[in-house]
Amino acid sequence: MPTITPATPSSFLRPAVQSSVITPDPTPPSTSTSTSNTNQSGRRTMDVVEEEQKAGLKAIRNFLRLRTSYDVLPVSFRLIVLDTTLLVKQSLAILVQNGIVSAPLWDSTQSKFAGLLTSTDFINVIQYYFQFPDDLKEIDKFRLNSLREVERRIGVAPPETSYIDPMKPLYDACRQMLRSRARRIPLIDVDDETGQEMVVNVVTQYRILRFVAINVKGVQALRKPLRDLKIGCYDNLATATMDTPVLDVIHLLVKKDIASVPIVNPDGVVLNCYEAVDILTLIKGGIYDELSLTVGESLLKRPDDFAGIHTCTLQDRLDTIFDTIRNSRVHRFVVVDEKKRLVGILTLSDILRYILLEGNDAGEGS
Ligand code: AMP
Repeated sequence: MPTITPATPSSFLRPAVQSSVITPDPTPPSTSTSTSNTNQSGRRTMDVVEEEQKAGLKAIRNFLRLRTSYDVLPVSFRLIVLDTTLLVKQSLAILVQNGIVSAPLWDSTQSKFAGLLTSTDFINVIQYYFQFPDDLKEIDKFRLNSLREVERRIGVAPPETSYIDPMKPLYDACRQMLRSRARRIPLIDVDDETGQEMVVNVVTQYRILRFVAINVKGVQALRKPLRDLKIGCYDNLATATMDTPVLDVIHLLVKKDIASVPIVNPDGVVLNCYEAVDILTLIKGGIYDELSLTVGESLLKRPDDFAGIHTCTLQDRLDTIFDTIRNSRVHRFVVVDEKKRLVGILTLSDILRYILLEGNDAGEGS
């Protein structure tokens, strides 16, 4: 057995988001009752932080209600739309060549939007191969319009073809993403005269949160530490090691409906994170040769410019987390302790859910 060097050393981890300490109340304690005064001043500080946090959330929600998905789009952009008659393997090559991980689909026979191609579709094809290995020759001939058949045969529900009118408030797009657990949503407009659908673009959780980070001053008021916010996932974490077969990780992603799995060593120290989008790089050369690899081997195939993974600690706060979102393309933070051991995971879905729904008794479905 050859020894496997970890694909990316733990030094690849970004330093934890800088957390600034909550400023203590400046009122000096009086001589005789210093303990109770310290307690009171600590409580006052916490009350102020709580109030500011609420005001920050309100500012973000107001902003999301006033802006539309159009506002998030850059002045000029390119959009790759794939015709559903393309071969699955061609579509994969197009995604990889263009450095993108999803694309809207277009049914040219009906001149209609036909859903979004994402890493989940490739995971489904891999699962199909896993269940019907004798069909390898057939799999090579799969076209995008046969993906529904793939889903049917492996027994998974077809993805919701959720989309939104780009003129609707951004708040609605966020709610719709949370409801459907989608990490991105296509923007579909309809030509007034012809009634013809037009794919305008796709907005992602990342684009929306970055837009908020850049434009809403209120994010600077989000000074409650993660420890108190209780957002993210801290129990029953799905993890893998460098030696885990990549197929097992794929099954884990599907079973738990998650987009990434932290890679840890036997002491629980975080070494890396395997992401659903890594599967695209893995299978780009021909779909199925590489599936027997371990996570460590497969991570070696990541592009050289891979930016690393982001970590944070329970002391970090959303103000600094938003700073990181503003400055880097980040989709999740792996929460670690002072020894870089895994504590939890905080994804953009968790952040979006918090800024939209915290304190909102109406719940997600409304
Ligand atoms: P995501 O789809 O990656 O945004 O994650 C969806 C939900 O699953 C979020 O609430 C995450 O905190 C949680 N989650 C993400 N990755 C993991 C994991 N590896 N183990 C357990 N929960 C996770």
